[in-house]
Amino acid sequence: NCHLESAKMLNLDNSDDASLNLQSRPDVLTCTYWKAAIIWEGMFDPHLYDEMHKIRGSSVALTVFAVGRYLDAYLHTFLNSSEQHFMVGLPVTYYVFTDMPEKVSNIKLSPLRSMKVIKVEKNSRWQDVSMMRMKSISNVIESDIRHHCTHIFCFDVDQVFTGRFGSEALGDSVALLHAHYYRLPKHLYTYDRNPNSKAYMETGDFYYHAAIFGGSWKNVKALTEACYQGIMEDKQNNVEALWHDESHLNKYMLLHKPSKVLSPEYCWDTSIGFRSDIQVTRLLWAPKYYDTLRTP
Ligand code: UDP
Ligand code: MN
Repeated sequence: NCHLESAKMLNLDNSDDASLNLQSRPDVLTCTYWKAAIIWEGMFDPHLYDEMHKIRGSSVALTVFAVGRYLDAYLHTFLNSSEQHFMVGLPVTYYVFTDMPEKVSNIKLSPLRSMKVIKVEKNSRWQDVSMMRMKSISNVIESDIRHHCTHIFCFDVDQVFTGRFGSEALGDSVALLHAHYYRLPKHLYTYDRNPNSKAYMETGDFYYHAAIFGGSWKNVKALTEACYQGIMEDKQNNVEALWHDESHLNKYMLLHKPSKVLSPEYCWDTSIGFRSDIQVTRLLWAPKYYDTLRTP
């Protein structure tokens, strides 16, 4: 059992997955070559994970950005669905970043859950809104999150929770398999292949989706700082990575392997159609109205 071995080899959260008796699944890859678990439905007992994290006092920060038209289009659906499905039973603090704090209406939050709204400037290019999240997240980890939460998840807002997204997803450093790439051969991964960019890489382990990443506050602080630094160096060199912050995230995860990987159940796009290995959908892509949302 690769997960039991991982407990001996690495002093990461992999050892939790071993002691919580993570099961394998015959039809999918459930373990990376560096012995990180890839979490799929059927592999874990949700109650064991929830009990362990309650006993340990885990608490989770969720960061989400709703800048410009993304606020009206997505934020309230995202938050209402996350109240139903995200880390239910654990303390959760939402950090909502927006240029219009007054438009974040009161959402009824369950006990143990609270929200902080943080004002950010609206960059005119959507690419910059997306990339500058790295800076805002690292700032708020330093000023606030590190004093209140053990773990963080950072989310795109254009998605909806539809099933349990629970404590089995918590880890020291967590990355998500991109729904459109997890079954494709590596040469089709859209890494940044411009040697002048800090995100440059020829090949890697997986193609990770930047719509979700997470980990301990310490690891996410290091990740967001490194990605922001890469983004700023690129700007000074007049280059931009192919998929912006996602390219930098993939480069970071190549150099700093995640301790846990989430299957595409954790961020599924229904337009892909039926896949026998997707036994549950926990979070779905919302429709993307780029024409209206991204025009300045
Ligand atoms: N975003 C935003 N306002 C913008 C552009 C982006 O709030 O004008 C935030 C929002 O959270 C969004 C994320 O940045 O989900 C990433 O952008 P987007 O979802 O459009 O990228 P894609 O999913 O196409 O990679
Ligand atoms: Mn998105």
